[in-house]
Amino acid sequence: MKICRFDDNRLGLVEGDVVRDVTVALEILPAHTYPFPRYDLLVANLPALVDRINALKSDAEVLPLSSVRLLSPVANPGKVIAAPVNYQKHLKEVLDDPNLHHDNQINHIERAGLFLKATSSVVGASEGVALRKLDRRNDHEVELAVVIGKRAANVSRADALNYVAGYCIGLDITIRGPEERSFRKSPDTYTVFGPWLVTADEITEPGKLDFSIAVNGEIRQQSNTADLILGVEQLIEFASGFYTLEPGDIIITGTPEGVASIKPGDKMLARMEGIGEMAVAVRAA
Ligand code: MN
Repeated sequence: MKICRFDDNRLGLVEGDVVRDVTVALEILPAHTYPFPRYDLLVANLPALVDRINALKSDAEVLPLSSVRLLSPVANPGKVIAAPVNYQKHLKEVLDDPNLHHDNQINHIERAGLFLKATSSVVGASEGVALRKLDRRNDHEVELAVVIGKRAANVSRADALNYVAGYCIGLDITIRGPEERSFRKSPDTYTVFGPWLVTADEITEPGKLDFSIAVNGEIRQQSNTADLILGVEQLIEFASGFYTLEPGDIIITGTPEGVASIKPGDKMLARMEGIGEMAVAVRAA
C-alpha cells in the first residue's frame, strides 16, 4: 500500500495517478495527552490503519495525484538516523575531493558510526528545499529511507526486516564544510521524505532497488541499493545496538557517488524502484 499525507494534513491512498482521500481512517488513532509519545502515532498504528483504509477506500473521494501537495509521509519521526559514506564509490569520491572532505576525517562507516539529523529539518516533496549559506556548496544526496515500524532494541540482521513499516525516498541535503555532519545537514527543509510511504509488504528485497536523482533533467546520481556497504538489515542491527528505535524513526541509508551542488531555481526529480518519483524544487531560504 502507498500511503501519503497531503494538503492540510490529509491522509491519502495512492493508486496510480490518483489519491483516495482516506483521512477519516485517522480516527482510529488513540488520543494522547501530555506528555506525548516520542514515536509517530500513525506509524505505530499502521496495521490497524491499513485495515481501516481498506474498509473505506471504495467510498473515498478520488483526487488527481498531480493536484495534491505532498507532505512528509511521517509527520513526527522521533529520530532521523543517517549513514555516512555507505557506498564504496561515494567513499572514494569523498576521499579524492577536498571540496567534499574538508580535511574531516573520513572513516569507514563501521568506525564512524551513524549520525542524527534534526527532526525540524524534515519536509515533504511539495514543500521544497530552502537553501541557506548560498556562498557555500549545498549538495543533493538521494537515499533509500527506511521507516521503523515497531520498537527495536538489539535487533539481529536476520530479524531486522520484521521491524520495518515501509520505505520512502530520502533527500539528505548537505552544506559542505568543516562542521559536524548533524549541523551541516539539519537546516529547516534539508531532509525531504516522500513522495509517500510504501508499506514493507510491497518491497521484500530493499537491497535490490534502482534509484536516481536528476537536477533540471540531468541525471546526477544513479545506483542500486545492492551497492550499499551496510545494507538495510545491517543498519538496523547497527543502530538498534546503540539506541532503541521507535515507530516512525527513519534511517536514511547513505548516498551513492555523484553528489553535486544545487542552487535556487533548480528542480530535483528523485526516483526509486518500487516507490515512485518525487519532484522537489529548490529556493533560497
Ligand atoms: Mn547522506
